Amino acid sequence: MVDSASTHRIATISVHAGNGIDRETGAIRRPLVMANSYALPADPSELNWSNTDQLFYARNSNANQLYLQSKLAALEGAADAVVMATGVAALHGMFFTLLNTGDHIVCSDVTYLAVYRLLTELLPTKYGISTTLVDSSDPDAVRDAIRPETKLVHIETPANPTTQLTDIEAVADIAHRAGALLSVDSTFATPILQRPLNLGADLVVHSLTKYINGHGDAMGGSVAGSTELIDRIRNECLVNVGGAISPFNAWLIMRGSVTLPMRMRQHCKNALHIARFLEGHPAVAYVRYPGLPTHPQHSLANRQLNGGFGGMLAFGLCGDADAHNRFVADLRIITSAVSLGHDESLIVYVAGNDERAHLYPEPFRKWGHLRFSAGIEDPHDLIDDLSQALAKTQPPTTQ
Ligand SMILES: *Cc1c(COP(=O)(O)O)cnc(C)c1O
Repeated sequence: MVDSASTHRIATISVHAGNGIDRETGAIRRPLVMANSYALPADPSELNWSNTDQLFYARNSNANQLYLQSKLAALEGAADAVVMATGVAALHGMFFTLLNTGDHIVCSDVTYLAVYRLLTELLPTKYGISTTLVDSSDPDAVRDAIRPETKLVHIETPANPTTQLTDIEAVADIAHRAGALLSVDSTFATPILQRPLNLGADLVVHSLTKYINGHGDAMGGSVAGSTELIDRIRNECLVNVGGAISPFNAWLIMRGSVTLPMRMRQHCKNALHIARFLEGHPAVAYVRYPGLPTHPQHSLANRQLNGGFGGMLAFGLCGDADAHNRFVADLRIITSAVSLGHDESLIVYVAGNDERAHLYPEPFRKWGHLRFSAGIEDPHDLIDDLSQALAKTQPPTTQ
């Protein structure tokens, strides 16, 4: 059996972990189990109604969720993992479980928007939890922000949408010296490029909606870490808050994740090609991609990311909002839509109407940004598409 204790390599884990033979039919793939209740034991008084191990009600746990949990734990090299309905449900579940009134959290200044809102608005107002946002690419800034009541340091690396990187090993050391835990949102990197638990993190979060599912059809989220921490999250946030994943979504993500290592290779290859092409184009104001030497944390990217620099980049055009919108409208293969990590390339233009724009680096503030999720198409077709749309943003050359 391929599980988290196995010494198999990541491509083998991606195929086999969590799969097995269905005892009733002999099917060699785990079936989709669409049932919200499971048969009770002969003497239900023996049952702990809050348990999440013994199947009896699909909010506490369902069969496809359990298969996917064991796969994600294996991919991250974790003792355990919990799977929830969305990435945000997983992030909320982790914060809600680990933090109490009076506690303090130090968080990357650039993270997924819902994390920013949860930590700067909702948890402070509702529960009296306080947050300090810091430029976590600077470990000293993290150290300076720590207080006696700091319970958790949360970072996103690479960060959405700026692709800023944080040194996981350095920040884990700072958090642990202060008696705090470190959680890492590793959605952009996936377990193929980075395994934060090996670098000292206590918890690793994924939006499974993105690369791990990879096909743009299902939503899910996960947290991986020690059995003790993951059990607490499961008990508080599945049993009593209810962010359970549907069996069908868990089944789709399980299926999509089989090809994760192959897909990541193509995402990385395409993104690097495109980043280099864009950086050399006169209509492009700036490009941020961890694989470019111009990226502020390029040397950290070389150390911390293995096998590629990810599929996400950000760039801006020498032009106003109208020019950016016209460029996006002129694209033929690349689709204008949110989300990321799909098989198809996606782009989204974010102008000045982003409430966190003041936290972004200078070129993002000046030009706005196009967040680009490089798909797994042929890179030449993607570059041709970008090229023809960029040509239209420039005034015709007169000779
Ligand atoms: C999309 C995303 C999330 C949220 O995930 P959902 O599945 O959409 O809830 C969290 N973190 C990062 C980095 C993301 O890109």
